[in-house]
Amino acid sequence: MPGKVLVAIAELGGEILSLNHHCEAAIGLSSSAALGQLVWTLLPTAEFVETMRDGCRAAADGKDVADHSGKWQTNHGARFAVDWGYHGIRGASGTMGAIVVTGYDLGAVRRVQGEAREMLDRYQSILDTAVDGILTIGEDGLIKSFNRAAERIFGYRAVEVLGRNVSMLMPQPYRAEHDDYLHNYLNSRRKKIIGLGREVEGLRKDGTVFPLELSVGEVTVSGGHVFTGIIRDITDRKQVESEARRHQDDLAHLARVHSMGDLAAGLAHEINQPLTAILGHARAWVRMLDAGNPDLISLRDSMEKIAHQGERAAEVIRRLRKYVERGEMERQPSDLSASVSEALDLLQHELKVEGVHVMVKSPAGQPEILIDRVQIEQVLVNLVRNAIQAMTEAHIPSPELELVTVVTETPCGVCVSVRDNGPGFGATAPDQLFAPFFTTKQDGLGQGLSSCRRIVDAHGGRIWAEPNRPRGAVFSLWLPLSQAQGGGGLREVTRLGA
Ligand code: ADP
Repeated sequence: MPGKVLVAIAELGGEILSLNHHCEAAIGLSSSAALGQLVWTLLPTAEFVETMRDGCRAAADGKDVADHSGKWQTNHGARFAVDWGYHGIRGASGTMGAIVVTGYDLGAVRRVQGEAREMLDRYQSILDTAVDGILTIGEDGLIKSFNRAAERIFGYRAVEVLGRNVSMLMPQPYRAEHDDYLHNYLNSRRKKIIGLGREVEGLRKDGTVFPLELSVGEVTVSGGHVFTGIIRDITDRKQVESEARRHQDDLAHLARVHSMGDLAAGLAHEINQPLTAILGHARAWVRMLDAGNPDLISLRDSMEKIAHQGERAAEVIRRLRKYVERGEMERQPSDLSASVSEALDLLQHELKVEGVHVMVKSPAGQPEILIDRVQIEQVLVNLVRNAIQAMTEAHIPSPELELVTVVTETPCGVCVSVRDNGPGFGATAPDQLFAPFFTTKQDGLGQGLSSCRRIVDAHGGRIWAEPNRPRGAVFSLWLPLSQAQGGGGLREVTRLGA
């Protein structure tokens, strides 16, 4: 009979009037058989007879009687702990008419409590063995639970953080903003992080700030909200990513240094022109001074020309230095057409010498995208130089190069195509051209296109080749717009806990 509620209705003197079904089954008597017997002689075990009798009498007198626990024995001999209660019932006239004795099986209550405790222990052991940090906060932002992994990650013991505001685990400025954020969320229900995974920053007890991945869940508990945060320390992953990025930057730099030798010949020629002009002006002036009739107005004019030519030469050197500078990948919002013209500037001499006719088409007002300008310039220099070489080696009578920039909508991005009217790449599968060490040139290294692909991949973009019509090759690179708008490659730093 455990788990049931026993009900006996008796007269004010304790004589049984009626028993509920559970009561009948427990004592093995029907209501009619038990009718008139004193309720305390049937229900409790011997040691509680008196207590029950007093309870019944007090209830009959209209007094509040405190519930008490007592043993109860079934007719099968089994004993259970029961919580007894006594209530007087008044009739319509307001006079006391009967008493009700109720018995709740405490065994069942204890069993439920035991099960709940067991569930709690199981839940606790899951929390404690979890690799991820798990913490919960209430609507007020105060920490309600903090598992072992969270202790390990943040360096605090649970007792040090329980009941304190979760913002203590965040660096500024998020720490100062978190309460408002939580408040706004509870009012507007506009989710910024709940249900989503985000990369944010955490603050350890020792004051170090570290990157973490956070996912937040929300549950409603008796009308209030509890937020659960699952935290993964991604310091190691970030380190590996940044090493990979550095490695990629080193490779890209190496490729630029390698191509510098080829570019240098053209650039030396470009520097030679202003130097010759400077020399010419200077010599003419030495002659005029020697002759003793200097005209100060034309001297000034010449000096200005010398300065202008000097600036031209300095600009060529600046361009080259910037190109081979070693630096960490640094993305800035930029217009791809600017990179196209920088790349063409670097190759000006080569294009002129080989008689390549260049056409540039780019839409006005194109959106800026987030790129490392030097590296994207490097990709374009590679593509343009390959095209020049292919057309020159094939002795194309009127080599033509077209650089077309278009804005794409799905997916959103900007695409630059480098089209030539050279020999094309024949039967070679377009993707093979991008494999490291693939080359058809006698002195080629086969590194150009593979490093272009690495750079474009690191920008979240695509690079590919296809045949041109009626002849030649088209190499295109596409870069996503989302990166310029703060998503994609940018690490987002948001608040922890909501
Ligand atoms: P490399 O220039 O050292 O050969 P790349 O990786 O830059 O290395 O190029 C690989 C190969 O792709 C080239 O050897 C060539 O066969 C082919 N290729 C690249 N660009 C063109 C082009 N515009 N036209 C025809 N073939 C090309």
